[in-house]
Amino acid sequence: MPDARGRIVILTGAGISRESGLATFRDADGIWAQVRLEDVATPEAFTRDPARVQAFYNARRRGLLDSAIQPNAAHRALARLERAYPGEVLLVTQNVDDLHERAGSRNLLHMHGALRQARCLRCANVHAWDDDIGATTPCPACGAAALRPNVVWFGEMPFFMAEIEAALDACTLFAAIGTSGQVYPAAGFINRVAGRARTVELTLEPSAVSPLFDDVRHGPASVTVPLFVERLLAAGGEM
Ligand code: ZN
Repeated sequence: MPDARGRIVILTGAGISRESGLATFRDADGIWAQVRLEDVATPEAFTRDPARVQAFYNARRRGLLDSAIQPNAAHRALARLERAYPGEVLLVTQNVDDLHERAGSRNLLHMHGALRQARCLRCANVHAWDDDIGATTPCPACGAAALRPNVVWFGEMPFFMAEIEAALDACTLFAAIGTSGQVYPAAGFINRVAGRARTVELTLEPSAVSPLFDDVRHGPASVTVPLFVERLLAAGGEM
């Protein structure tokens, strides 16, 4: 009998958005091959040269809003899983793009924040944000020129960790999709669930943590993820 109370946690990384035209970070042609993360993605970089950091994220935000960037078959399949699965599906993404939302996913945690949000360093309010952020851009809530991208930089604590850890501890199936297995704490999720929940990795090529999974499937996410979702739903959630 299918277990209607199955709980699935799915971790997604840059590999799921690659086929939508968004650059990954750690591939040979990825973002960190072009800029040093120390220059644009740390609190120290923002203190040292806020204009450079804002310019980097302004450009990425504009890129995400380009009409050519759309969710792909992998994003859509995960949204379908959330709608059709009789148990619970929680999507935890390391991505700062909003392609999961655009595909229809709702039970979603952005552990590394979101590119289309700005956070005020004065009043801490978070605002939906599609424009550039400049040195004099006022916070809509308090008026201070103290906005930063609401993304988690290296050296900062990811968002929603207590909620994510509770979900990992309760899950019956954990899947990692398009992650490099090199960025912690997300890369450590597999250690937390291995041996207790069923674990599956969907990845283009072997990741740093592939040997820890029960099952590893190689291929582009637009192929492996719809197949994974079809099989999961056909089996009533049993793997
Ligand atoms: Zn404010």
